[in-house]
Amino acid sequence: MQFVVHYGLHFLFPLAIAIVFFRKEWKRAYLIFLATMLVDLDHFFADPIFQPNRCSIQFHPLHTYWAMAFYFVLVFLKTPYRWIGIGLLLHMLTDTIDCVWTYSQCASCLHDSPAESLVRFIHGFIF
Ligand SMILES: [Zn+2]
Repeated sequence: MQFVVHYGLHFLFPLAIAIVFFRKEWKRAYLIFLATMLVDLDHFFADPIFQPNRCSIQFHPLHTYWAMAFYFVLVFLKTPYRWIGIGLLLHMLTDTIDCVWTYSQCASCLHDSPAESLVRFIHGFIF
């Protein structure tokens, strides 16, 4: 279920944003949103590369708060930088939701996550 929602958010949510907000150029916008998933290439710097229940946020270099601040700045630039920024922020949002979901099922799984306090805060806010 979490897997389905995660990839639904990665693929369908950006599609909805592209269609609703960039109707005339939605295909280009969506393509760029999809391309921003390359941000996950930073996982290759991690050891192990894949670890179940690991929260990407603040763990991988392109998933840090500093990186997100930069993505936020991109949103105020011209197209296509704006689309890149939006795509990256949507990606971070999806990954954050995933972390909160993981936390809600296994709080101890995030005990060594650098984003634990953020995730605990959001979790407490929702539940
Ligand atoms: Zn990611």
